[in-house]
Amino acid sequence: MSLDDLPPLREVIARHGLAAKKTLGQNFLLDLNITARIARAAGIEPGDLVYEVGPGPGGLTRALLAAGASVVAVERDERCLEALAEVAAAYPPGRLTVISGDAMTIDEPAILGGRPAKVVANLPYNVGTALLIRWLSADPWPPWWRSLTLMFQREVAERLSAAPRSEAYSRLSVLAQWRTLVRAHFDLSPKAFVPPPKVTSTVVGLTPLAEPRFPCRLDALEKVTAQAFGQRRKMLRQSLKGLAVPAEDLLARAEIVPTARAEELDVAAFARLARVLDDR
Ligand code: SAM
Repeated sequence: MSLDDLPPLREVIARHGLAAKKTLGQNFLLDLNITARIARAAGIEPGDLVYEVGPGPGGLTRALLAAGASVVAVERDERCLEALAEVAAAYPPGRLTVISGDAMTIDEPAILGGRPAKVVANLPYNVGTALLIRWLSADPWPPWWRSLTLMFQREVAERLSAAPRSEAYSRLSVLAQWRTLVRAHFDLSPKAFVPPPKVTSTVVGLTPLAEPRFPCRLDALEKVTAQAFGQRRKMLRQSLKGLAVPAEDLLARAEIVPTARAEELDVAAFARLARVLDDR
């Protein structure tokens, strides 16, 4: 399949000496059918602005550009910059902007010129969850991003859409489901990547809700979920002891039985706990 007139990615990697580095979470996608599938999952339309983290040798970037997006990409590995400059040169000026930097600290609205963007990324596994939490914690809300289409280890993807009483239900499930609609698009086997990671990956889509599903402050929600899931097997009357309000009072006022455990509470119940904590 040819998305553009650029050389095959294997050739790009060989010519620029881009042997994958484990420390940077580098597992490259070289099959342009797969990168095109991710661009379709993201619902990219001509004229969309996309923010991509970690373009690497540019496989996903090329699919996004071919779908008609303008892309602003942040890459930490300076070895990739020359290869990415070649991709930029194949398109009209302004279609691909590559910033050399760290996505964990970059000011996204500033580099995007204040324009809303769709985030699309084959994330480095070592910082993927931290980046997601950063984007889910955006202030103000609705956030600067219109959607997130992200590659995760399947185990992380399962946590995002997990229901109460399941093994995968966690702080991340509550935070994601409180403010977004989560959808698992498709799985990719390790063979799709070079080098292959140890685990299956899943492409996940998150769309921000205009308002969180249940009213409460993010900070308070984080406090109660951190305490509750910090000791997920314990009863809440025990696990919530570290908060500023006595656990039994907090639970009574939130109408939650004190013998319940973190994994039994739905998102609405966590939001009630957060509100009661703020009302003390
Ligand atoms: N998008 C490419 C693909 O799909 O083949 C590469 C994906 S690879 C899983 C992750 C990329 O993120 C690598 O290019 C890596 O150098 C880059 N990266 C790692 N940590 C980063 C960070 N903190 N900020 C920006 N890029 C980072």
